[in-house]
Amino acid sequence: MYAMPPTESYKLGHGATTAFTPRIRSLYAHVPFCHTICGYCDFYSEVFDKQAIGPLVDSLLAELACYETAHAFSVDTIFVGGGTPTTLPPELLQKLLTKLASLADRNLPLEFTSEANPATVTPEVAAALVNSGVNRVSIGAQSFDAGELQVLERIHRPPQVAETIRIARAAGIDNVSIDLIFAVPGQSLASWMRNLDAALALNTDHLSCYGLTFEPGTPLHRQLSEGRVRKVDEDLEAEMYEATIERLAREGYRQYEVSNFARPGRECRHNLRYWNNDGYLGIGPSACGFLADRGLRYRNVPDTAAYVRAIRAGKSPQIESEALSREAQMRDAAWLGLRQNRGIDRATFRERYAQDFVDAFPAAVEELRLDGLLEVDDATIRLTRRGLLLGNHVAARFL
Ligand code: SF4
Repeated sequence: MYAMPPTESYKLGHGATTAFTPRIRSLYAHVPFCHTICGYCDFYSEVFDKQAIGPLVDSLLAELACYETAHAFSVDTIFVGGGTPTTLPPELLQKLLTKLASLADRNLPLEFTSEANPATVTPEVAAALVNSGVNRVSIGAQSFDAGELQVLERIHRPPQVAETIRIARAAGIDNVSIDLIFAVPGQSLASWMRNLDAALALNTDHLSCYGLTFEPGTPLHRQLSEGRVRKVDEDLEAEMYEATIERLAREGYRQYEVSNFARPGRECRHNLRYWNNDGYLGIGPSACGFLADRGLRYRNVPDTAAYVRAIRAGKSPQIESEALSREAQMRDAAWLGLRQNRGIDRATFRERYAQDFVDAFPAAVEELRLDGLLEVDDATIRLTRRGLLLGNHVAARFL
């Protein structure tokens, strides 16, 4: 559990102290506003509130400034997510992003991603992104079927995805990713494949395809409990997933993570940091961070007003902070690393944690191998195709 009191960890994390100055290579900033809240959404987001935007941006910059006093930065990946960052007015968006970009290491190629939702990227917003150094956008398309978008309670219409991509490209952002959701209630294999066709027609370099989950507390979960929607049959969901892998492979997209597919060289470097259990700094309401050098994981309060109040009072916005033991870090490295198709490199794991992966998890490895979910050789440990389908079950064995 998270034992360290938040204020204490704030002093540790933010004080202009100590000879301990880990280099921050990846930054995440959370912008928690959306025009409406989608029925399945489990992220921390609030309905867009004009009055709250200025204080939020000022607080994000103040939180970052605290970290600047205590850490060295050599940033080469930045990801701004939410929420919907592109709901911010262009001038405030640019103010925030420009500050984030100023921490980039000019000697390294920067990947700077902003999430964007269809119909929130005007030419002015796109110009603000480009002027701040953003060179990649991740667009929440989710579906190209108007009925499915309605089930998901998304507010955009299918043609707005292409229009958003057109605006981003015209502004100079050519690295575009699309998020899609499969196993939407009522969806057939044929309608999912039509979604994939529509996405492929947009010729983006990266696709993320997630099976819909019904998270407790969401409106969609409530509808499920009340019998107003029905889950897609498990076998059909597996069929959709396998068909996705095969179709995207034929189109030149390499699956590099359970849910992520990219043209060669267009893998999301920022997300790879997470899956490699590398460190990153997270700022904003609900943001998590991991200061890998000292194994410290933290999470900020998931409430914009409380976050702004804490920052204004000079207090920590963290509500959880824990220095992870070596064992806990190995467990994280296991379940995160196995999400990647290339699997876990045993030599790298040994070098980092002073123990071989198989020696660290002998029972789990043997059980999952016998069940046909893991492939083990001298160099690598990776999921089999069946293991990919049962990724959550595999992850649970290491948690
Ligand atoms: S746009 Fe994304 S973050 Fe916002 S409510 Fe919908 S799913 Fe959640």
